[in-house]
Amino acid sequence: MIPFNKPYLTGKEAHYMYDAVHTGKLSGNGKYTGLCHEFLKKKYGFGKCLLTTSCTDALEMAALLLDIKAGDEVIMPSYTFVSTANAFVLRGAHLVFVDSREDHPGMDEDKIEELITEKTKAIVPVHYAGVACDIDKIMTLATKYNLYVVEDAAQAIESFYTGKDGVKRALGSIGHLAAFSFHETKNIISGEGGMLAINDPQFMERAEILWEKGTNRSAFFRGEVDKYGWVDVGSSFLPSEIIAAFLWAQLENLQGIQEKRLEHWNQYYEGLNDWGAGKILDLPHIPEFATNNAHMFYLVCKEADQRDRIIEKLKEHKVHAVFHYLSLHKSPFYKDKHGDRTLEHADDYSECLLRLPLFYELKGEGIDRIINILKDAEL
Ligand SMILES: *Cc1c(COP(=O)(O)O)cnc(C)c1O
Repeated sequence: MIPFNKPYLTGKEAHYMYDAVHTGKLSGNGKYTGLCHEFLKKKYGFGKCLLTTSCTDALEMAALLLDIKAGDEVIMPSYTFVSTANAFVLRGAHLVFVDSREDHPGMDEDKIEELITEKTKAIVPVHYAGVACDIDKIMTLATKYNLYVVEDAAQAIESFYTGKDGVKRALGSIGHLAAFSFHETKNIISGEGGMLAINDPQFMERAEILWEKGTNRSAFFRGEVDKYGWVDVGSSFLPSEIIAAFLWAQLENLQGIQEKRLEHWNQYYEGLNDWGAGKILDLPHIPEFATNNAHMFYLVCKEADQRDRIIEKLKEHKVHAVFHYLSLHKSPFYKDKHGDRTLEHADDYSECLLRLPLFYELKGEGIDRIINILKDAEL
């Protein structure tokens, strides 16, 4: 049996969690939270980092920071996870969905401008499969129309974008704000977990306040104010030290984890490249401006029936492959609010994209077996 995903443990998680428990500091914003913040900020050039209990929470913080209100419009891809959308819907925003690119499930950067109106407040690109959107194009639009950009970088740890200026920048360091996930299905995990990266300095102080239940507790502990109190709205967005300790073990091993995942990804790609041409529609496409963080290996099938046949064939051989998002513009919750604008590529990916198993402990033999099952299948 080859599962779709298996969370990888480096072996140090329990040790650091024990340490956190043993030192008696169990709530958030202690030693391990600080270690994670410093590491991520320095490695990827984020303005400021705040760990959260999920990427969903980080996105909700972003919507609060941007003061999204009823009637504001937020532009995002339809082919994404519900949390990208819910964070803004919770504040009363109207979502304006963009189609996917033809060659990639991420949003089509050239179809954004026509959707911008007086009411548009933000653009939320999703770096699908950890592969960069053409973020310079999006930032240029944001500057032109005075909009904010929140990168949904849930899948995008250790992935980069090189713009026309030739500078290679980490995903999540470019938009005004960015949200990451450490859910057990992502490359780097803490069970549930996430992070908000704050790159625009105007949001840094308030982000910390929203994070600490609307209080200036963090400033108090740094000795910047002599008492702390309720100064703004907020919630409990910060994870406990036990979670941060787990995450720290993962971050220490980030490079090893990434190398292994890339090895698996490349084995799939090399094994399936020749077969893919003709049999199915496509293998993952990495644009020139993007890097590959091996978050996901997927096939784009010719039609939904073909995808079903491949899922069945793999299942007969005890391999678990899964499809992904159902376009949000067709969801029971949003289809009436979306109107009748068609988004053909988002629909194609909803019907035809299939994700293959990819996790640290997957073996080379396992990948070869999957490749051979696919090659032998009647499609
Ligand atoms: C996983 C994911 C999320 C949600 O992350 P959580 O940490 O589970 O809240 C949001 N957006 C995208 C694109 C994701 O892949």
